[in-house]
Amino acid sequence: MFPDKIARAAGTGASVPVECCQVCGHAPLETTLSLGYMPPVNQMVSIGEVPRQQPWFPTNLLHCAKCDLVQLGLAVDPVIIFPPEYPYTSGTTKVLRDNFADLYAEASAMLDLGPKDLVIDIGSNDGTLLSNFKNGGHRVLGIEPTEVGKIADGRGIPTLMRYFTPATAAEVKRRHGPARVVTAANCFAHIEDVHAIVEGILDLLAPDGVFISESHYLIGLLDKLQYDTIYHEHLRYYSVGSLAHLLQMHGVEVFHARLIPSHGGSIRVYAARRAMHPVRDSVGKMLAAEPRGEAMRARLSTFRHDVMLSKLRLLAMVRDLKEKGARICGISAPSRASTLVNYVGLDEAIIDYVCEITGSLKIGKCMPGTLIPVVEESRLFTDQPDCAIIFSCHIADELAPKLRAKGYRGTLITPLPEPRVL
Ligand SMILES: [Zn+2]
Repeated sequence: MFPDKIARAAGTGASVPVECCQVCGHAPLETTLSLGYMPPVNQMVSIGEVPRQQPWFPTNLLHCAKCDLVQLGLAVDPVIIFPPEYPYTSGTTKVLRDNFADLYAEASAMLDLGPKDLVIDIGSNDGTLLSNFKNGGHRVLGIEPTEVGKIADGRGIPTLMRYFTPATAAEVKRRHGPARVVTAANCFAHIEDVHAIVEGILDLLAPDGVFISESHYLIGLLDKLQYDTIYHEHLRYYSVGSLAHLLQMHGVEVFHARLIPSHGGSIRVYAARRAMHPVRDSVGKMLAAEPRGEAMRARLSTFRHDVMLSKLRLLAMVRDLKEKGARICGISAPSRASTLVNYVGLDEAIIDYVCEITGSLKIGKCMPGTLIPVVEESRLFTDQPDCAIIFSCHIADELAPKLRAKGYRGTLITPLPEPRVL
């Protein structure tokens, strides 16, 4: 039933092209957008380090005409894109902290969780999501392959530092018993071998257990021109339709789906074994609003054109500024900034530095693929560059007043969806 020739990069130490749909096996896939070659977004060398050879990977977005899954054209070995020193922590972002508190409130109200119920989070990062369930009195376990898992452990969230595989699932079940809830926030689209992952999750779940996933939303990505969220960590770009189709192949039914604000527009999807939970109206409503088939193809074609125009407009704006002698810096260095900087072609001659808030593990390193240094945010207020481009553009409107309140007086620009002065 499942395609058997799907690309598997894990263990290769390199990358493997995705030559058929990761979900349904259909080939050939249509290329809908090419962003060229990109460095891994977390490949950040220290400031002043002698430049050495670094891998760059083709970054193409493909569409499956059969099941409408939009997916990346290349799977990169997870050891390259999620190295042990992976510098991302979800607890540092307020919108994510609030979202996980909301997930807990919604799930505990809907699912009537008891104190003995086990909640397992795949890709548990620093334990921010699970801390809500723990504080609610439930048993929790995180599964996290990177060093960030130690932060969670230190906060009292038991964390198994391992990649999630069917073997990991079997071991966890043997040691801890079945889970009432398995969550996967912003990682379900990241793991290759998706059918094995779904089988592993099913193995972990109690018969009436619920799988809650949060994924960046394809339709929001297209509508808001968030091409900057396309990078090698994100293998698949789900709509509710393509995610429901994948789960259906395993006898799993989506029974609730909704939009959430994480990462500039995500979906939270509740699923369980068929007929275990009543299907809410939310599912049909979201499915009805999504383009499919020819309509999806047309939507992707418009997206490609708009991405190209967006790049040219940002370059035109930057060129005007530089011709007037302006000094430009960047605000924040999330993973998505790497795609924007490299696709548009910004470099250290154009951008003096990028600011990160104190405590960020990225300070002291260079933006991937460039020699643009990442520095403490305080530099912005003492240096007062003429212009600052907000690279975490999905929260630009929230950031701008804070930067003003802290004393930045220059021009603030958001690069996406349309480059504009704030
Ligand atoms: Zn497909």
